[in-house]
Parts: sequence; C-alpha cells; structure tokens
Amino acid sequence: MDTLNRWDYSIFWQEALNQLKNELSDQEFVMWFRNIAYSNSEEGRLSLAVPSSFYRDQVKQRYLPKIRDKLYELSGFQLEVDFVIQKRDAADAPPAFSPAEHGKTVSTPEAPAQRSVPRFSPVSDEPRKKHPDLRPDYIFENFVIGDNNTLAANACMAISKNPGTAYNPCLIYGGVGLGKTHLIQSIGNSVHATNPDIKISYVTAETFTNEFIEAIHHNKNHQFKNKYRKVDILLIDDIHFLQDKTGTQEELFHTFNALYDSNKQMVFTCDRPVSELKQLTDRLRSRFERGLNVDLQAPAFETRFAILKQKVEEKKVPITDEVIELICRNVTTNVRDLEAALTRLIAYADLLNKKVTVDIARQQLKDVFSNPKMSNITMEMIQRVTAEYFNLSSNDLRGKKRTKAIAFPRQVAMFITRELTEFSTTEVGLEFGGRDHTTVMHACQRVESRMQTDPSMEPIIQRIIRQIKEYGTK
Ligand code: ADP
Ligand code: MG
Repeated sequence: MDTLNRWDYSIFWQEALNQLKNELSDQEFVMWFRNIAYSNSEEGRLSLAVPSSFYRDQVKQRYLPKIRDKLYELSGFQLEVDFVIQKRDAADAPPAFSPAEHGKTVSTPEAPAQRSVPRFSPVSDEPRKKHPDLRPDYIFENFVIGDNNTLAANACMAISKNPGTAYNPCLIYGGVGLGKTHLIQSIGNSVHATNPDIKISYVTAETFTNEFIEAIHHNKNHQFKNKYRKVDILLIDDIHFLQDKTGTQEELFHTFNALYDSNKQMVFTCDRPVSELKQLTDRLRSRFERGLNVDLQAPAFETRFAILKQKVEEKKVPITDEVIELICRNVTTNVRDLEAALTRLIAYADLLNKKVTVDIARQQLKDVFSNPKMSNITMEMIQRVTAEYFNLSSNDLRGKKRTKAIAFPRQVAMFITRELTEFSTTEVGLEFGGRDHTTVMHACQRVESRMQTDPSMEPIIQRIIRQIKEYGTK
C-alpha cells in the first residue's frame, strides 16, 4: 500500500468502477473491467494495470474518454490515465494448449490449475440466451476495434444502446470478410442479451427475397408482412443481393417505411457503397442512404495483428507472436482469410500435437501466402472431395436421391463450387445431375444461412475447401 504517497487516487478509481458497473452491461463490465487493477498514482496521474498490450489498446479505444470523464466527475481533477502492462503470474496464465480439450486424452502433469479470475474470453461466465437468428459468437466483446472499423463499430455499439434513435437507418458497407456480418449480428446479440423482449429479426437479403417469393407463391403475403413489419429491430445483411429483384425491392420499400415511421431501428450491410448498386429503384436507394452510411476497410498490419492475437487467446492455442506476425505480414486481404490461415495451423498443431514454429507455419501456409486463387479446380474434384468427406460417392451427389444424408452434402458441394469457381448456377446445376439453376441458388442459400447460425459449419466448409485445394496441387 502506498500510504505515504499524498497522491492516492485509488479511491476515485474504486468509485469509478462501481459506477461503470451500473452503466455497462454485465458482459461488457466483466469482459473489460474485471481485469484492470489500480496500480499507483502520481500528481495528476493515475496508473492502471492491464494484462496485455492488446487489452490496453482495446480499453483505451473503447473506454478511455469515459474513464477520464468519470474520474473528473468524482475528483474534480483532469487526471491523466496511464496503463501499465502487468503480466499475470504463472498460476494465472491461460492454460497451455491442451490436446485433451480437442478430444484426445493425454496426461498433462504440468497443466496449470483452473484459473479463478475470469480470463479474457468473449464467451465467458454467464451464458446468454441465444437468439434463433444469430450466431452467439458474433458479439462486440470479441470484435477488435482497429484502424479500419472504428466508426462502424462505434456506430453499431451506439445503436445497440439506443435502438431507433440516433443512427436510423444505418448501413455498413465494405468488401468480403471485413466484419459486416459480425457487427450487424453483434447489435442483435447485445440488445437481446440486455432485453430479450425486444423483437429482433436478422435475415440475409437473399433469405428475405426467398421468403417473399415463397409467401406470394403460397398466398401468405399477409404473414410475411406481419413478420417483418412488426419487429423492433430489423437487421438485413448483404442487400447487394437485391439488385434487379424489383418485387422484393418494392416489398422492402414498404417495410422500410412502416418501420421508419414507427421509429424502429434498421441496419443493413452491403458489399459496396449504395451509390454503386445497380438496378435498384431510386426510392429504395434514397432510403438506404438516409441515416448513417459507414464503411469497413481492409485492416492495417497492427489491426490484423490485434485480431489474430485475440483469436489465439480466445482459442487458447500455443501460437507465438512471431507466427502471428508472419501470418499478418502475408495475409493482407481480409479477416476471413486471416482466420482461415490460423485455423489451418491450429488443425496442424492439433493433429500432430506439435508446437508451431515460424518455419512450420511458413511451410504449412506456403500456398496461402503465394497464391490464394486457383483456376485449375474442376467440379469433378469438388464432388469427389466433398463426397469423400461425407463418406459418399460422387455419383451420389450427381444422382437423383434426395434423402437428407445426400441432400445436405450435395448442397455443400454446390455452395463450394460457387465459392471456388466461376461456373454459373446453370452450369453447376447441369453437373449435379441436370438440376435447375434455382436448385443451386437455393442450395447455396441454405448453406449460407446455416453458416450464419451454426458456428460449426464454417470449419467444415473450410476443411473441405482446403482438401480440394490440396487435391488441386497434386
Ligand atoms: P463480412 O460479413 O464482411 O464478409 P464477417 O463478419 O463474416 O465478414 O467476418 C469474417 C470473419 O472475420 C468472421 O469470423 C469475423 O468474426 C471476423 N472478424 C472480422 N472483423 C473482425 C474484428 N475486427 N475483430 C474480430 N473478428 C473479426
Ligand atoms: Mg457477411
């Protein structure tokens, strides 16, 4: 205790913490404040200890102004706030990579004891009530705020605190794999966690379109309207899909007006600025442009590093900073590609129970680093690898049977074909037993919407894609 120090601001910090605890959601508070400890004070300056530089940067970006304001309110001084990094002691360190967690039993005598302090982990402590439309791991707490997304992330957090007020509607745009779906779903998850009575609907524009078509087809227009016009928050992902779907655009236009007039929050995402969308009616375009439009850019190196570091901590895998750096220097496109590279290394380490050195990483990721796109992939290869993965034959995928055991792998194979190749839906349909192009579209949409709600889907797809690529290099 620093009793001789005449500058002891610890009491203000304690009170600031008490107040912040009431102002923030439990999840947010546990996530970011339980691991901050008072360190010391000097004249006009208060130091706080945090467990890592990643943590420091995130807390600064998220909360520093708030912390400063609080301390000013309480003390009457404009205190400077410093962060010192205090590594946790050994017993407190995150557990070493334990193969046991991955389904194998290996004796680990030196395994550290279970931590009692909540560690930096997004899906910590209390389980949240899951919203049926949303992936539970798409939350603000594990979204790294960096150079490329500060505005968008802050806008989304503000929306989740006061839906339907300041930024309505909000449209987030940016290329693939930059975090649009993560952010838009985080709004839903955050609101749902604090107030499960608020009616939230998350839907991709593609699903919205298909549901609308189905509704017309089955004379259920009324139910469809009710479903989307009676929500408190409407989240529509990937509205670029609506280009040239005039009927759906018309429907969405009316949905928009109904919700807007009753101050219900709407958030949309799009892969480009709205001005660049083609075949969109002017009146719907002007609706999207109303409110706030924010973009997501490709992350710079520091942000890529912070994101991967966070994923490594979250997954508790023994990937060193040097290896993270290697990946971040070489994968510059988007976060999805970064994650894919990491997943691949983890699978490798897990399989061989081996530490990933920089050399191993370089070796394992050779093709990712050099040439992400491959033009030599055929549908035959995709069918063969996918069928093998599901323990079926290529003929099954091309055949007529529609049992569940075959229909789903077939949908996956169609989806992957559209992901990896330039074939049109018509061409894909032909190669999969002469099916109609709408069947292919439907298949892709099914797989995609499952990926949005089921976190185990993406690794499966990634694994098959990896095997196809490996197959392609043989
Ligand atoms: P988009 O919808 O823009 O194509 P996603 O939201 O699906 O992109 O993001 C791709 C992947 O990258 C997801 O796994 C997401 O969790 C992750 N991701 C993107 N940005 C971040 C970030 N800033 N922090 C943590 N994870 C991120
Ligand atoms: Mg998306």
